[in-house]
Amino acid sequence: MKFVEPKVFLVGETRIIEDQLQDYLEHVGAPEWTSDAPSDAERLTEMLGRLCYRSFKPGLNPNVTRTREGNGPYLGHILEVGHGSVLEHAMLNFVFADVSRVFTHELVRHRAGTAISQESLRFVRLDSLSTYVPMHIKESEAGMEIMTRTVEHLEQVQKELAEAYKIDDEKKFDVKKKLTSAFRRLAPIGVATTIGWSCNMRSLRHVLEMRTDPGAEEEIRFVFAKVYELVKDRYPNLMGDYESTDVEGIPWLQTKNRKV
Ligand SMILES: Cc1cc2nc3c(=O)[nH]c(=O)nc-3n(C[C@H](O)[C@H](O)[C@H](O)COP(=O)(O)OP(=O)(O)OC[C@H]3O[C@@H](n4cnc5c(N)ncnc54)[C@H](O)[C@@H]3O)c2cc1C
Repeated sequence: MKFVEPKVFLVGETRIIEDQLQDYLEHVGAPEWTSDAPSDAERLTEMLGRLCYRSFKPGLNPNVTRTREGNGPYLGHILEVGHGSVLEHAMLNFVFADVSRVFTHELVRHRAGTAISQESLRFVRLDSLSTYVPMHIKESEAGMEIMTRTVEHLEQVQKELAEAYKIDDEKKFDVKKKLTSAFRRLAPIGVATTIGWSCNMRSLRHVLEMRTDPGAEEEIRFVFAKVYELVKDRYPNLMGDYESTDVEGIPWLQTKNRKV
């Protein structure tokens, strides 16, 4: 039995295919267009936003006599006016490890602009149990004693079930799967597991705002605080408008550009 803290890995992000982008810019008549964007995600978002009005340079569309220069001001304007659909193009790919089923149940409620791969506890046997200790339990000697004893007991239950059903000697995979699924019903909802989560930048902003709110559950606040640490400097023009306030040691992210 182990007490663990959630871990966040940013394992992927959108990348521009340079020669194809250049071909499009030549096609539209703006081959000299460049951007000072600090990331491909922000450059792509700017480019697909400018595509709408052909605002790569003044005059390309006769109705456009001046254009907003710079990736920061351009994306800042998009956030201000709430043209959030442009933010849906760039995707990020995260792995959240050592998170509970409490956390994953809450995370998967965010449907728009996300993709999910969750560790299967029908296939992955719980031969040991790990869990996050919430702050109210951590602060209490009595709470810690009850939690430690209970998780140790439930881990022992998993071992006893494995022994009683001789699952290690079982050759048929479908039988092992059925048994593993039956055993997991006696694991706690706090059991640590892993989930892969991809999202677009618009969804990420919405989830950061909802799930770092002090009214949200502690573990998901903790995880999205870690997410914010990974994205705030990497995509400053898409994430730079957040004010962070410390609540119980976890940041609460607020912005005037709420839910773009
Ligand atoms: C503090 C807190 C407490 C909560 N308590 C509970 C609870 O007690 N019980 C419970 O069941 N849930 C609870 N939730 C979950 C909450 O109700 C939402 O299901 C969850 O936060 C997902 O957010 P979302 O609806 O914005 O979905 P997302 O998928 O993140 O969608 C983003 C936005 O897209 C739009 N959208 C998405 N899907 C649709 C659609 N089908 N139709 C129209 N517009 C759509 C909406 O504008 C939505 O806000 C809680 C959430 C929080 C943060």
